[in-house]
Amino acid sequence: MTAAGEAYGLFTSLTGTEPAGSWSAPGRVNLIGEHTDYNDGFVFPFATPHRTHVALGRREDGRIRVVSTFDPVPVEVALADLDALFPARRDEVVEWARYPLGVAWALLQATGADPASVPGVDLAFASDVPVGAGLSSSAAIESATGSALNDVWGLGLDRVAVARAGRTAENEAVGAPTGIMDQMAAMLGETDAGTFLDCRTLDAQVIELGFARAGLDLVVMDTRVTHAHSTGGYGERRAACERGAAAMGVPALRDVRPDQLARVQELVDDVTFRRVRHVVTENQRVLDAVRTLREQGPRAIGDLLYASHVSMRDDFEISVPELDLAVESARAAGAIGARMTGGGFGGAAIALVAHDTVGAVTDAVRAAFADAGFTEPHIFTVRPSEGARRDS
Ligand code: ADP
Ligand code: MG
Repeated sequence: MTAAGEAYGLFTSLTGTEPAGSWSAPGRVNLIGEHTDYNDGFVFPFATPHRTHVALGRREDGRIRVVSTFDPVPVEVALADLDALFPARRDEVVEWARYPLGVAWALLQATGADPASVPGVDLAFASDVPVGAGLSSSAAIESATGSALNDVWGLGLDRVAVARAGRTAENEAVGAPTGIMDQMAAMLGETDAGTFLDCRTLDAQVIELGFARAGLDLVVMDTRVTHAHSTGGYGERRAACERGAAAMGVPALRDVRPDQLARVQELVDDVTFRRVRHVVTENQRVLDAVRTLREQGPRAIGDLLYASHVSMRDDFEISVPELDLAVESARAAGAIGARMTGGGFGGAAIALVAHDTVGAVTDAVRAAFADAGFTEPHIFTVRPSEGARRDS
């Protein structure tokens, strides 16, 4: 059954009624721009065809109830009580339900709407966005919830404001210190386009990717390596970036240009310097990728993708052997470009591949993993797709 059908079925079995409507929002893949978000820099993600669906119905009693295929037990709370729950008592809410209930809370906070002035709701979720595979299933559920409630509650928020509410939910109601890239990609995505986002101003531009016309596919190679060192590693990288910015006397590494790297090298230790060099050159690569797409088309961005990988491997030191092997074996089998994507220490790599080479690249990566004795990777293609929307 489709995820949309599952959400509908879950809703009708929960309430015994038909939903008033259904909404969906995608996951995302970051094409280029890694660890640049918290340095006020640039990122360039696109929305996946994988989506989280929600069927919604109104209720008369001012309560919100959520249920998901993830958990047979629905979670219900009075809208008026959300404010007491988040963030102070979030531990009382089962983890998955903090995402949709957190979005409801964040929307009410952001608009100052009186919880008594909006209708209660039942929400039933189903998804084909894999969890923890680097596709941001969390932003998908937040953006689906935010879009549905924004419409049904008549809040009139624009897509960026709904994305902000998703991040507020994730940061404060769930307690995960993430940026806003994922939610912006899920809210603003368009078919065969990417979202070029300035993380300082939140200015976003939809940039045509042109993969379809150029006969290209984007292959995701999920290594299924879990992020064992990600928490400590992430903290160390952030601290190094802050040291670099402080040494240069700027608010964030966004403000350091590539031609200033020699000066950075005089001021900081070698490890800090290499962390800074990754961020500064990665910001430039995002800008170069956008310009290259416009001027030369998608086949010309392959070298930028690989340069991004090398920078993460050698300077930021967040790759693992599985990611390096995925990237190198995809390139050897004819990929136009490839890089690890996401926070690092595991997760997925991506490869830009001509349509008729996808089979060869997939086989080559699988064979290389088998030879190395690594866990079999999960390999699939994604077409850059539409952002959050009402489906019925
Ligand atoms: P990801 O990289 O996939 O975003 P996260 O750990 O950030 O991984 O978010 C995954 C969590 O989001 C899940 O463990 C669950 O709590 C919640 N979640 C995502 N999709 C759903 C869904 N369809 N139903 C319920 N919870 C979901
Ligand atoms: Mg997530």
